[in-house]
Amino acid sequence: MLRDSSTAAVSKKISLAGDQEKTGLGNYFIANYPPFSFWTPQCVEAVHAVLSRSPQHASPLGLYVHIPFCRKRCKFCYFRVYTDKNARDIEEYLQRVLVEVSIYSSQAAIRDRSLDFVYFGGGTPSYLSARQLRDFLGALKRFMPWEQVKEVTFECEPGTLQRQKLEVLRELGITRLSLGVENFNDTILEENGRAHRSAEIFRAYQWIQELAFPQVNIDLIAGMVGETWENWRECIRQTIALNPDSVTIYQMELPYNTEYAKTVRNGESLPLPLADWPTKRAWVDYAFDQLIAAGYEVSSGYTLVRDKKRVQFHYRDALWHGADLLGTGVASFGHIQGVHVQNFTEWDTYLQPLREGRLPLYRAYVCAPLELCLREFILQLKTGRVEFGYFLDKYGERLNLRFGEELHWLSEQGFAQFDDKQLVLTRAGLLQVDRLLPIFFLPQHRTHRYV
Ligand code: SF4
Repeated sequence: MLRDSSTAAVSKKISLAGDQEKTGLGNYFIANYPPFSFWTPQCVEAVHAVLSRSPQHASPLGLYVHIPFCRKRCKFCYFRVYTDKNARDIEEYLQRVLVEVSIYSSQAAIRDRSLDFVYFGGGTPSYLSARQLRDFLGALKRFMPWEQVKEVTFECEPGTLQRQKLEVLRELGITRLSLGVENFNDTILEENGRAHRSAEIFRAYQWIQELAFPQVNIDLIAGMVGETWENWRECIRQTIALNPDSVTIYQMELPYNTEYAKTVRNGESLPLPLADWPTKRAWVDYAFDQLIAAGYEVSSGYTLVRDKKRVQFHYRDALWHGADLLGTGVASFGHIQGVHVQNFTEWDTYLQPLREGRLPLYRAYVCAPLELCLREFILQLKTGRVEFGYFLDKYGERLNLRFGEELHWLSEQGFAQFDDKQLVLTRAGLLQVDRLLPIFFLPQHRTHRYV
């Protein structure tokens, strides 16, 4: 039987980073563990070492390709993106990514394995023209075939789509389109620096449906600058009316390198209101209720799907279960046989090694077995449920005993229920899962910013 606060026997004082209600500067979303700030250039040698030998662990293999071009920089964006590159720059970038993929494909740790999933992220992959997509994706497939993969995801910005481009994507085997809608209100889209407008969403969606892509996801952001209850209700209504296979909702955050963070640091106020964390959670809570009433099921703290058995998200699930990932493109993150790695983060520092036929590896981290176990535990907890037996079988770790006090604390706060077999987050826990996860970090990793 799952235990709740009434049966909790032991508790300890646990304080959360970012206890404040106001949306302050800094990262909220936890993408990986141990935090990126612990990765170092000195560990890059370890990446070359694991690549040069046959894989020691049988893991699924994925390919991530970063396309760092956007029409305009959103004011909340913290990704490595470029809005000023010309056609020649883009051609060179794509050629260098192909070199990167070809180097990986010849490594002992990779060459006898087939891909399980592919993900084109950005930036804006759909910024590329139909011709560029045909040439680039066609060449990529020759180095690393993806006919047998379970999923090929492609991120799109609605205003960059034309029917012909979508036809090429369908023909090239894209199985999952992820559409960055974020909001349907043109005033809010404009204020937040988005390049697209609502008419472009509906136009693109019509073509996507006509071409019958196997899976379509809509991304929304709860709490864009200027958001209101009335508008958010309308956003959710319009999302449900489009009837996508899945809906992913992120909560607005203000990482330090964003345009909005600069405004706040300069002591200026934002032009329209920015919601606090309890309000953003209430908006996501409302969206969950509405989507569930419309037939969707919760698949993580961010995503709801129309039919859990049919609508899978292999990229996410494989990564959260320790898959290997070749991260290609500027500033990309990867994971190979227990070693985290990130590429160089600037245009020239990324391209130059590839011009010389070398991988552009910037920093890395060799994970200890316990860190790999905690990483999977932390990431899987984002689904709202973890089974302790999985970690005992895979890593020999009894996490229910290691985290006895943390589990009782979560239960007392109303964030989770647990028994000897599993930990299940409540809706309140799920809506702020990234705020809770650091309680499971090793002590030496708790004090750092998670970037
Ligand atoms: S479209 Fe996405 S990647 Fe491009 S600037 Fe906006 S948030 Fe960043």
